Amino acid sequence: MRYDRNDLNKAFISHAPGYWAADPPEEWHDYTWQLKNRINSLSQIEEHLTLCDEERSGILLSGTKLAMSITPHFFNLIDEADPEDPIRRQVIPRIEETWYDESDMADPCGEDSHMPVPGLVHRYPDRVLFLVTDRCAAYCRYCTRSRVVSGAGEQELETDYEAAFRYLEENRGIRDVLLSGGDPLLFSDRKLEKILERLHRIPHIEFVRIGSRVPVFLPQRITPELCRMLQKYHPLFLSVHVNHPRELTLEVKEGLERLANHGVPLGNQSVLLRGVNDDVETMKTLIHKLLMCRVRPYYLYQCDLIQGSSHLRTPVSKGIEIIEGLRGHTTGYAIPQLVIDAPGGGGKVPVNPEYVVHRDAKRIVLRNYEGKLFEYPEPNLPQSAPLEPAALLP
Ligand SMILES: *Cc1c(COP(=O)(O)O)cnc(C)c1O
Repeated sequence: MRYDRNDLNKAFISHAPGYWAADPPEEWHDYTWQLKNRINSLSQIEEHLTLCDEERSGILLSGTKLAMSITPHFFNLIDEADPEDPIRRQVIPRIEETWYDESDMADPCGEDSHMPVPGLVHRYPDRVLFLVTDRCAAYCRYCTRSRVVSGAGEQELETDYEAAFRYLEENRGIRDVLLSGGDPLLFSDRKLEKILERLHRIPHIEFVRIGSRVPVFLPQRITPELCRMLQKYHPLFLSVHVNHPRELTLEVKEGLERLANHGVPLGNQSVLLRGVNDDVETMKTLIHKLLMCRVRPYYLYQCDLIQGSSHLRTPVSKGIEIIEGLRGHTTGYAIPQLVIDAPGGGGKVPVNPEYVVHRDAKRIVLRNYEGKLFEYPEPNLPQSAPLEPAALLP
């Protein structure tokens, strides 16, 4: 079957194998083969793809910053004929990563200053971010944690597991733990289970979630054994990270369905990236495909001010324009919340199109998705005077 470019985005296509096959071919489906055969050098990549000068220099320089590493599965999604391919832009370094932008920061979300224990970010009162590893299946060029991730940079993630577990046990206000890194699904089933098991024993922890791009970079890792293990630790949620509809291949869909069939509720966090997903049509196709994979779009992030990402960042107005192009025009379930992770450590702040045209004590005037105006009268309550506690008494 042949697809035009639009259909190619919409269809769940099996891309295994494209540029090259495993030998013997069955190995393609083995995640350890995918990991062992990741592309992480200039010579390897040039065997399969013609690079431009910007990419060639970017790859040579990536060894001292954020390493390059691409699974064969993800690499095969690159459309060789398109130098602006949205898959390519996410994982192949470019010389622009060495550009200096005065807004750039090494730790844009102020995580290092919110770590009571190495590897545990405690910013919000009731939940923590637990950085369990510094490795991923592949490296996103706009990684918000590039200062510690991949092992190529100067800073190291020195997670103190024992101290982290003790902190979680002692702080009874923490009810939600988010496992991230790096990518927790790179751990063996046994190693990951040890962490989940330990968290499960802490009575005040109500909810655990995993942030992972493994279902997208390495769908072969989502084995029935892994899913059966995860199933023992409910409620367990998983947030994936898909940016472009073409990342949702048949293999990825099957992995996501397997997780969902084992009771794992799925969300997606996208990063808004210039030349990747910064238009309404691409984003709409993406979120529709996500729903078909039983994944609920959760956040759309304005790209963090991470060093070397200025060429991938969009104006904030672009994100607002995209949300406006979705709200009312498609399924509410499909629409993510646009957020900016406030530079310096303010946490995630929602950013929304303005639908309130006017508001006073008597009424609110609203604009709908078609631009039509509607008025909602406020209830006729004596609300001008603040309510005194005495007024609540009979
Ligand atoms: C994103 C994040 C969380 C989780 O935030 P939610 O809005 O609950 O998804 C928790 N802690 C830190 C430090 C984070 O960056």
